Amino acid sequence: MVNFSTSRDFAFQLDAKDKLASFKEAFVIPDPSLVYFDGNSLGMMPKIAQEKSRQIVDEQWGKDLIRGWNKGWWEAPARVGDKIGGLIGAAPGQTLVSDTVSVNLFKLATSALTLQSNKTRVITDTFNFPSDLYILQGINNLLSSSPRLRHPSPIGRGDGGEGYEIIRIGATDSDITPDLSALESAIDENTALVTLSHVVFKSGYIYDMRRITDLAHKKGALVLWDLSHSVGSVPVHLDDCNADFAIGCTYKYLNGGPGAPAFLYVNKKIQEKLSSPIWGWWGQKNPFDFDLEYTPAPGAQRFMVGTQPMISLLTMEAALEPILQAGMDSLREKSILMTDFASFLTGAWLVPFGFSLGSPVDPAIRGSHLSIRHPEGYRINRALIEEMNVIPDFRAPDNLRLGFAPLYLSFADVWEGFDRIRRVMEEKRYEKYPLQKLTVT
Ligand SMILES: *Cc1c(COP(=O)(O)O)cnc(C)c1O
Repeated sequence: MVNFSTSRDFAFQLDAKDKLASFKEAFVIPDPSLVYFDGNSLGMMPKIAQEKSRQIVDEQWGKDLIRGWNKGWWEAPARVGDKIGGLIGAAPGQTLVSDTVSVNLFKLATSALTLQSNKTRVITDTFNFPSDLYILQGINNLLSSSPRLRHPSPIGRGDGGEGYEIIRIGATDSDITPDLSALESAIDENTALVTLSHVVFKSGYIYDMRRITDLAHKKGALVLWDLSHSVGSVPVHLDDCNADFAIGCTYKYLNGGPGAPAFLYVNKKIQEKLSSPIWGWWGQKNPFDFDLEYTPAPGAQRFMVGTQPMISLLTMEAALEPILQAGMDSLREKSILMTDFASFLTGAWLVPFGFSLGSPVDPAIRGSHLSIRHPEGYRINRALIEEMNVIPDFRAPDNLRLGFAPLYLSFADVWEGFDRIRRVMEEKRYEKYPLQKLTVT
């Protein structure tokens, strides 16, 4: 453990030793005094993505027109998927860029449940992103209210087709870590699917992927990991852990741009057993035969649905360059040092103002963001954004969430951001803001 200090010089010393420091120049920094703590929600723009997006619009869309499909557009979901696969421990042929995280969850979870149609339990947790929980509820609604939609037809459910039991594991302590023993004992022989966010979106807790995947497999359950807060921030080893499915975002730590398409991963071992619930032409075996009947494409390709947003997808591909260059191990090393430093500054400067740490203290089980909790969290967030040029985000009920994207944040930025939070507290600047929340927090 580093012997941290609150002095600004100390932050400069950390920067002087930072092997990734030069990557900041690879990003568009809109204003040198901006402290951007929200790279875990929307990453900053890599210069190469900005340049490439112009080329994509001017040359590829503008001049290639329809010919673009034979010049690398058609293969882009698989090509870019494999690049992302390299960041999450997935050998080629298992990761595809497609749709949104929510839609990918729908496709993969429905497919898992229909494969496991003799089992009726689904396990997730209260830490999961709400959209993930809604998707599971919607699948349950669909499959149990319309038994005919189950594919293949259910066998031996023994419950009259009354739907799934969706178990949400809760917290052991103040919403920071899930109750692992409750999770482990809930996974039984009747469990069809365990689906969790690998790094949870509020506290940043990291699940032990290998342990939970092994445990689930022993009981015959499949496992689906949401990597939205993991990809580009913590090392992930999907193949090594023998994970069945994964999904994730590209606009957070991968810096792919607002609404950039998501990815999905399906382990080679089970690809051929699965059927997608959405049979679109991009998932058909020979889309340009224009057959009137659907035959699934081989492998994970069957989970594609229709035409993908090429401008956004190709821009995101360019945005991956700095991350691929830096490599996950150096990123993780810097990220741990940063979150440790931030955790130290929280203790030294913010705890006296009533803040508490809403994330694990141990960096081994903590992703690249920290939640710091305060009853006035929402108004403090407003004051930081509107007066201090610091951008965190707020997650109800009281989490001020600070993302530390190691590619473009310096230790001096972290010091500066915390110094400004401290000033907001000293001067009670948050008091003038209404309690009424804006639409996006
Ligand atoms: C950001 C995030 C999502 C976003 O889903 P979209 O469908 O892409 O909007 C889903 N799950 C988790 C865990 C996330 O952090």
